Amino acid sequence: ATRTVYPDETVDSVCPFCGVGCLTSVSVSDGKIVKVEGRDGPANENRLCVKGRFGFDYVSSPERLTKPLVRREDAPKDPELKLNPSNYLTVFREASWEEALHRAADGLKESYGAKGGAGLAGFGSAKGSNEEAYLFQKFIRQGFGTNNVDHCTRLCHASSVAALMEGIGSGAVTAPFSSALDADCIIVIGARPEQNHPVAATYLKQAAQRGAKLVVMDPRHQGLMRFADYALVFKPGSDVAMLNAILNVIITEGLYDSQYIAAHVDGFEALKEKIADFTPEAMEPVCGIDAETLREVARLYAKSGKSIIFWGMGVSQHVHGTDNVRCLIAMALTTGHIGRPGTGLHPLRGQNNVQGASDAGLIPQVFPDYRSVEDPAILAEFEDAWGRTLDPQRGLTVVEIMDDILAGGIEAMYVMGENPAMSDPDQHHARKALTSLKHLVVQDIFLTETAWHADVILPATAHAEKLGTFTNTNRQVQIGRPCVSAPGEARPDLDLIIELANRVGLNWDYSGVPEVYEEMRSHMRSLEHISWDRLERDGTVTYPADDDHAPGNEILFGQSFPTSDGRARIVPTDLVPPAELPDADFPLVLTTGRMLEHWHTGAMTRRATVLDAIEPEPVVSMHPKEIRKAGLEVGQQVRVETRRGTITLTLRADRDVSTGMLFIPFCFQEAPANFLTNPQLDPFGKIPEFKYCAARIAPAMLE
Ligand code: SF4
Repeated sequence: ATRTVYPDETVDSVCPFCGVGCLTSVSVSDGKIVKVEGRDGPANENRLCVKGRFGFDYVSSPERLTKPLVRREDAPKDPELKLNPSNYLTVFREASWEEALHRAADGLKESYGAKGGAGLAGFGSAKGSNEEAYLFQKFIRQGFGTNNVDHCTRLCHASSVAALMEGIGSGAVTAPFSSALDADCIIVIGARPEQNHPVAATYLKQAAQRGAKLVVMDPRHQGLMRFADYALVFKPGSDVAMLNAILNVIITEGLYDSQYIAAHVDGFEALKEKIADFTPEAMEPVCGIDAETLREVARLYAKSGKSIIFWGMGVSQHVHGTDNVRCLIAMALTTGHIGRPGTGLHPLRGQNNVQGASDAGLIPQVFPDYRSVEDPAILAEFEDAWGRTLDPQRGLTVVEIMDDILAGGIEAMYVMGENPAMSDPDQHHARKALTSLKHLVVQDIFLTETAWHADVILPATAHAEKLGTFTNTNRQVQIGRPCVSAPGEARPDLDLIIELANRVGLNWDYSGVPEVYEEMRSHMRSLEHISWDRLERDGTVTYPADDDHAPGNEILFGQSFPTSDGRARIVPTDLVPPAELPDADFPLVLTTGRMLEHWHTGAMTRRATVLDAIEPEPVVSMHPKEIRKAGLEVGQQVRVETRRGTITLTLRADRDVSTGMLFIPFCFQEAPANFLTNPQLDPFGKIPEFKYCAARIAPAMLE
C-alpha cells in the first residue's frame, strides 16, 4: 500500500479517549505528536483533561505492532500465557500481508463452511470510527449471515440502552451534559465524572457554583460531592430501593405532573401500585440513606423547575442494571423533567465512540439506527441492500459468545480493537474461551492480552493515523483526522476490513472513508441531514437535525417520543439483590472501575509515558479504618480473592471507599481485576455485574 507521510503542522482532531468528545489541536514535529491542546468544540470549549492533554505518546510507542504476525505451528495455546515485546516471536512469526490476510480470511471461511454463521462471531470496537463500526458489522452480517457481532457497549451501558429503548424509544441521551448549566437540580448517580468524564465534570461543577442544586449518589465518596447539596453514599447494589423510595415520595406527596403524564406517559397507575410499599422508612435500612434525606431529595428533584439526571456504570453494571435505569426514567416521566432545556436523561457514555458504534449497528439485535433484525420489513430492506439472506434472529452478546465457544458452538472470531481478555468478567473463563477457538484474528495496534491468543494478528492504525467520524455522549458527530503516519507496515482498520471482505467473496469497492460514511447514512434516518460535506463544513453536528442547514436538536422529546404511539412507558421495578452477596468466607464487596489517568483496559494509557508515571502499578483501595481493622498496612502487597480467582497488588488507603468495600481498577494487566469479577448478567441488557461481588483480602505470601 502507498504510505502517506504527513507534514509537521497542527491538525484539528478529536480526543481518542472518553465519550465527552473534546476537540483537539494536535501539533506534530518530525513525524511525532509533540503537543495536544483543546479547541473550542461544543463539548469542551478549549478544555482538556490529563488524558487528552498528555496521553498521546502511546501512538509512537516502540511496542506498536508494525508487521503482520501468524502463530507458529508448534506454539501452544495456553490461557496462562504471557507475552511481551521480548518474547512474542517465540509464539508468532512475522508474515507478509498476503499470507496474513489469506490465513485470516481462510480460517473464517473454513468455520463458515463447517458450521454456517453460528460458528462465527465478531467483536468490533467503540474506539474505532463510525465507518469502521458500520463496515465491521456489515462484514459479519453480509459475509457470514449471522448477528453474532457485538462490542464493549455490552459491558458499559447495554442495560441503559435496554431501559431507554423500552421506556422512551431511543437509546441516546435526551440532552447534552452542558444542559446542566440550564438546570435547577442535577442528579449524578453511579458516575464519577471527575475521573471518567473530566471535562463534563467541569460543567457540572460550574452549574453548581452558579446555583443549581447538585445531588450526587454513589456507594463511594467522590470529589464531586464537595460541590453537592446532597451527597448520598448508599449501600452498594441498593439503587432500586433508594430510587423507588424517591418515587414513592413523588407519588404519595402528589409531586408528579398529572398533565404531563396524561399527555405523554403510560404505566403510571402500575407504578403507583408497585411503589406503595417502597416507603422511605422501609427502604432506609436497605439503602442506608435516612428517610428524611430521601424525602428531601425527592421534593428537590420533583419541585425544581428543571431537573436533569446523569448516570454512569455504577447504575448499569449490575444484574439489576436495567431496573436501575427504569427507575431513573420513571422519575423523569412522572415529573415531566424531560424534553426541555435543563431537563432530561443522560447516560454518560464511556468510550469516545461507544454511542456511534452502537448507532452504526455494532450490536447483535439491531441494524444501524437501532432497527430490529427481527422485524421482517427491516430485514428485507437490508437483504435487498446487501444482496443476501440475513440472520432473522438476534445474535449472541459478548459474554454469551464466550460461553458459546466453550459449549462447542462458535469456533472462529474476528476481533478488531477490543480486548476481551482484559475487559470480560471472570477472565479465566474468558481466556479459556479465546484459547479454545479454532481460529482467532485480532486486529489491533498493540500485542494486547487478547492478541496473545490469536492465530493471525493484523497491525492496525491508531486514532491519530486515520480519518473517521466519532459520535460523543451528546450525540455530536465530529471528524477525527490523521496527523502522523502509521508505523512500519501497519494499515488502516477500514482497509483491513475491506481486504477481508473481498477475500470472503463480498466484492466491496469503496473509494474511501466519506463513501462508507454516506452508505452508512443512507441506512440511518438519524443522520439524514448530516452529510460528510456538512461535517467538513460545520465541524460538529448534533443528530438528529431537521434539515441540511438547521443546527442539530440538542434537546429531544419535547412533543412526543419515538415509540409506536408517541407515548413513553414507565416500567415498575422490584428489588433484585446482587448475584453474589458477601458471606463468612468472602466478607467484602468488590467493585471495579476506571481511574483518571488510565482508560479502560490500559492498552493505550499504560503506554503513555506521563499517565503511566502517575499511576504505574496495580492497586486495591480500601478505607484506612478497614485496613487497620484487617491488620494490613498501606503499601504492602496483598492478595484479593473471589470465587473466580486471585490477584496480587499493592494496598492503597482511600477514604472514598466505604467500609466493607474494595475498589480495583481494571486497567492493569499485571493484576487483572476481571480475574475476580462475576459474569452473572442482567437479563435484559446482558451486562455483567462488574460493580458487585463478594471478596476477601489477605497479605500476599512472600515467595
Ligand atoms: Fe479526552 Fe474525555 Fe479528557 Fe475530553 S474529558 S480530554 S474527551 S479523555
